Amino acid sequence: MLNAQCIFCKIIQKQIPSTVILETDHTLVIKDIYPKAPIHYLLLTKKHIEHMGHATELDAAHLADLGLCVAKLSKTLPGTNGFNTLSNNGRSAGQSVDHLHWHFISGKNLYEGGLSL
Ligand code: 5GP
Ligand code: ZN
Repeated sequence: MLNAQCIFCKIIQKQIPSTVILETDHTLVIKDIYPKAPIHYLLLTKKHIEHMGHATELDAAHLADLGLCVAKLSKTLPGTNGFNTLSNNGRSAGQSVDHLHWHFISGKNLYEGGLSL
Protein backbone atom coordinates (compact mmCIF):
# COMPACT_ATOMS: atom_id res chain seq x y z
CA MET A 1 0.00 0.00 0.00
CA LEU A 2 2.79 2.46 0.89
CA ASN A 3 6.23 3.05 -0.61
CA ALA A 4 9.27 3.32 1.67
CA GLN A 5 11.00 5.81 -0.69
CA CYS A 6 8.02 8.17 -1.05
CA ILE A 7 7.91 11.43 0.92
CA PHE A 8 4.10 11.50 1.04
CA CYS A 9 3.99 7.89 2.29
CA LYS A 10 6.38 8.97 5.05
CA ILE A 11 4.07 11.89 5.92
CA ILE A 12 1.06 9.51 6.01
CA GLN A 13 2.95 7.26 8.44
CA LYS A 14 3.89 10.36 10.51
CA GLN A 15 7.59 9.64 9.94
CA ILE A 16 7.85 13.18 8.56
CA PRO A 17 5.90 15.95 10.35
CA SER A 18 3.14 17.90 8.63
CA THR A 19 0.20 20.10 9.61
CA VAL A 20 -2.83 17.82 9.42
CA ILE A 21 -6.14 19.47 8.51
CA LEU A 22 -8.33 16.38 8.15
CA GLU A 23 -7.85 12.62 8.31
CA THR A 24 -10.15 9.82 7.21
CA ASP A 25 -9.63 6.09 6.64
CA HIS A 26 -8.58 6.78 3.05
CA THR A 27 -7.22 10.31 2.96
CA LEU A 28 -4.80 12.60 4.79
CA VAL A 29 -5.20 16.35 4.22
CA ILE A 30 -2.17 18.47 5.09
CA LYS A 31 -1.01 22.05 4.56
CA ASP A 32 1.28 22.47 1.57
CA ILE A 33 4.77 23.31 2.83
CA TYR A 34 5.15 26.02 0.14
CA PRO A 35 1.62 27.50 -0.05
CA LYS A 36 0.76 29.26 -3.32
CA ALA A 37 -2.41 30.85 -1.85
CA PRO A 38 -3.72 31.83 1.62
CA ILE A 39 -5.26 28.35 1.85
CA HIS A 40 -3.34 25.58 0.12
CA TYR A 41 -3.95 22.01 1.24
CA LEU A 42 -2.87 18.68 -0.21
CA LEU A 43 -5.21 15.68 -0.19
CA LEU A 44 -3.10 12.52 -0.11
CA THR A 45 -4.53 9.08 -0.81
CA LYS A 46 -3.53 6.65 1.97
CA LYS A 47 -2.35 4.31 -0.74
CA HIS A 48 0.71 4.83 -2.89
CA ILE A 49 -0.74 5.42 -6.37
CA GLU A 50 1.66 7.25 -8.70
CA HIS A 51 -1.00 9.56 -10.12
CA MET A 52 -4.61 9.61 -11.35
CA GLY A 53 -3.61 7.75 -14.50
CA HIS A 54 -2.51 4.74 -12.42
CA ALA A 55 -5.77 4.37 -10.46
CA THR A 56 -7.90 1.27 -11.01
CA GLU A 57 -11.34 0.10 -9.91
CA LEU A 58 -9.66 -1.23 -6.76
CA ASP A 59 -8.99 2.39 -5.83
CA ALA A 60 -12.62 3.52 -6.11
CA ALA A 61 -13.03 4.10 -2.36
CA HIS A 62 -9.86 6.20 -2.28
CA LEU A 63 -11.00 8.34 -5.20
CA ALA A 64 -14.52 8.80 -3.82
CA ASP A 65 -13.13 9.86 -0.46
CA LEU A 66 -11.01 12.58 -2.10
CA GLY A 67 -14.22 14.15 -3.38
CA LEU A 68 -15.95 13.84 -0.03
CA CYS A 69 -12.97 15.44 1.71
CA VAL A 70 -13.18 18.37 -0.73
CA ALA A 71 -16.81 18.86 0.32
CA LYS A 72 -15.83 18.78 4.02
CA LEU A 73 -12.97 21.25 3.48
CA SER A 74 -15.23 23.63 1.56
CA LYS A 75 -17.44 23.92 4.65
CA THR A 76 -14.48 25.21 6.68
CA LEU A 77 -13.97 28.22 4.40
CA PRO A 78 -15.13 31.61 5.64
CA GLY A 79 -18.12 33.27 3.96
CA THR A 80 -18.77 32.42 0.34
CA ASN A 81 -15.15 31.76 -0.54
CA GLY A 82 -14.69 29.74 -3.70
CA PHE A 83 -11.95 27.18 -4.09
CA ASN A 84 -10.00 25.25 -6.70
CA THR A 85 -9.11 21.59 -6.75
CA LEU A 86 -6.38 20.53 -9.12
CA SER A 87 -4.11 17.60 -9.73
CA ASN A 88 -0.85 17.50 -11.68
CA ASN A 89 -0.29 14.11 -13.29
CA GLY A 90 3.13 13.31 -14.71
CA ARG A 91 6.33 15.39 -14.91
CA SER A 92 5.26 17.13 -18.12
CA ALA A 93 2.13 18.34 -16.29
CA GLY A 94 4.12 19.71 -13.34
CA GLN A 95 3.86 16.78 -10.90
CA SER A 96 6.86 16.84 -8.54
CA VAL A 97 5.86 14.16 -6.00
CA ASP A 98 4.90 10.80 -7.49
CA HIS A 99 2.04 10.02 -5.08
CA LEU A 100 -1.55 10.79 -6.06
CA HIS A 101 -2.64 14.09 -4.53
CA TRP A 102 -5.12 16.88 -5.15
CA HIS A 103 -4.39 20.51 -4.36
CA PHE A 104 -7.17 22.43 -2.55
CA ILE A 105 -6.64 26.15 -3.02
CA SER A 106 -8.63 29.13 -1.78
CA GLY A 107 -8.17 32.84 -1.14
CA LYS A 108 -6.49 33.56 -4.48
CA ASN A 109 -7.98 33.80 -7.95
CA LEU A 110 -5.64 31.63 -10.03
CA TYR A 111 -7.08 33.03 -13.25
CA GLU A 112 -5.95 36.57 -12.41
CA GLY A 113 -2.37 35.29 -12.72
CA GLY A 114 -2.94 34.55 -16.39
CA LEU A 115 -3.96 30.90 -16.08
CA SER A 116 -6.62 30.04 -18.60
CA LEU A 117 -8.36 26.70 -18.93
P1 5GP B 1 2.93 18.61 -7.28
O1 5GP B 1 3.96 19.58 -7.81
O2 5GP B 1 3.48 17.19 -7.31
O3 5GP B 1 1.60 18.74 -7.92
O4 5GP B 1 2.69 19.01 -5.79
C1 5GP B 1 3.56 18.65 -4.76
C2 5GP B 1 3.34 19.64 -3.64
O5 5GP B 1 3.88 19.08 -2.47
C3 5GP B 1 4.03 21.00 -3.85
O6 5GP B 1 3.06 22.04 -3.83
C4 5GP B 1 5.00 21.09 -2.67
O7 5GP B 1 5.07 22.40 -2.13
C5 5GP B 1 4.44 20.09 -1.68
N1 5GP B 1 5.42 19.43 -0.83
C6 5GP B 1 6.59 18.88 -1.23
N2 5GP B 1 7.24 18.33 -0.18
C7 5GP B 1 6.43 18.54 0.90
C8 5GP B 1 6.56 18.20 2.29
O8 5GP B 1 7.53 17.59 2.75
N3 5GP B 1 5.53 18.55 3.12
C9 5GP B 1 4.44 19.24 2.64
N4 5GP B 1 3.50 19.56 3.54
N5 5GP B 1 4.30 19.58 1.35
C10 5GP B 1 5.28 19.23 0.49
ZN1 ZN C 1 3.62 7.39 -1.67
